[in-house]
Amino acid sequence: MNLNTIVEVKRPKSFEEIEWRDGHAWLGGGTWLFSEPQVATDTLVDLGKFGWPALTATAEGLEIAATCRIVELHDFKGPPEWRAVPLFDQCIDAFLMSFKIWNAATVVGNVCMSLPAGAMISLTAALEGVCTLWPQPGQSKDGKPRQVPVVDFVTGVHTNVLQKGELLRSILLPAAALSKRFAMRQVSLTRHGRSAALIIATVGDGGEDFLLTISAATPRPVHLRFKKTPSAAEMRQAIDERLPPDAWYQDVHGSAPYKRHVSHYLAEQIRVELS
Ligand SMILES: Cc1cc2nc3c(=O)[nH]c(=O)nc-3n(C[C@H](O)[C@H](O)[C@H](O)COP(=O)(O)OP(=O)(O)OC[C@H]3O[C@@H](n4cnc5c(N)ncnc54)[C@H](O)[C@@H]3O)c2cc1C
Repeated sequence: MNLNTIVEVKRPKSFEEIEWRDGHAWLGGGTWLFSEPQVATDTLVDLGKFGWPALTATAEGLEIAATCRIVELHDFKGPPEWRAVPLFDQCIDAFLMSFKIWNAATVVGNVCMSLPAGAMISLTAALEGVCTLWPQPGQSKDGKPRQVPVVDFVTGVHTNVLQKGELLRSILLPAAALSKRFAMRQVSLTRHGRSAALIIATVGDGGEDFLLTISAATPRPVHLRFKKTPSAAEMRQAIDERLPPDAWYQDVHGSAPYKRHVSHYLAEQIRVELS
């Protein structure tokens, strides 16, 4: 779509050269920005020229830069001890995607969109990702980068903790989370529809630190952590306590009772698989 409110696209090479003001918006892959009118935006600030490596693997974990495209995450091959890397592709496949989104959209742009069916939110929340946020360019010297877990970054449907001009610079997936066993299930009302529920659990080798992540069925991702793999009854009770009937997300992709039902059903499948 031609955006007729945009008068300038800036392509800075360094953060310092940006003079931010109202009407500016960060440009990731642009797949959402160019999909509908952006009446409040007159200037796009393209992240593409900063030259950040898309993916950086260290002993600490995997850092996903703001410019990392979905296809680059798909092509990533991790060390064998990072047993959760195959989850990348499973979540990417859960994404309702065209060729353009696959090749142009960024992982971080998907997180910033903060939609319930954001498969990169499900992935990075389940792998205990931590966002590094850079303050609005040109802000006073006390504007320092801050860290926010992905699970707390998204606050609701299309809402998040980003402040005006703040940049989600990168997401770190810790090596400890990447090394856990995992299981994932996803369901949509229609064959190629958006996810109605995307459920992931990770667990340590001895059944310790069982982390259940419920997403798509709820407005924002939800973590339920157990010291060891729970019984079916323990898990059901924990889900019901954390998510009462009005906490499930109702939209054209499924009613709240449907999403609650399939989430329980899929979570139990995952629990059995990992037990
Ligand atoms: C046909 C179609 C199908 C889609 N299907 C889905 C789907 O199934 N699930 C889903 O979640 N989304 C979907 N989307 C929405 C969107 O395309 C994706 O969420 C995509 O991943 C966004 O990434 P992007 O890099 O293109 O973001 P952009 O379009 O570049 O940016 C999206 C928003 O995030 C901001 N932004 C981008 N990067 C940063 C950053 N680093 N820091 C701060 N703000 C930033 C932008 O200013 C903008 O407001 C779909 C869109 C289309 C057109």
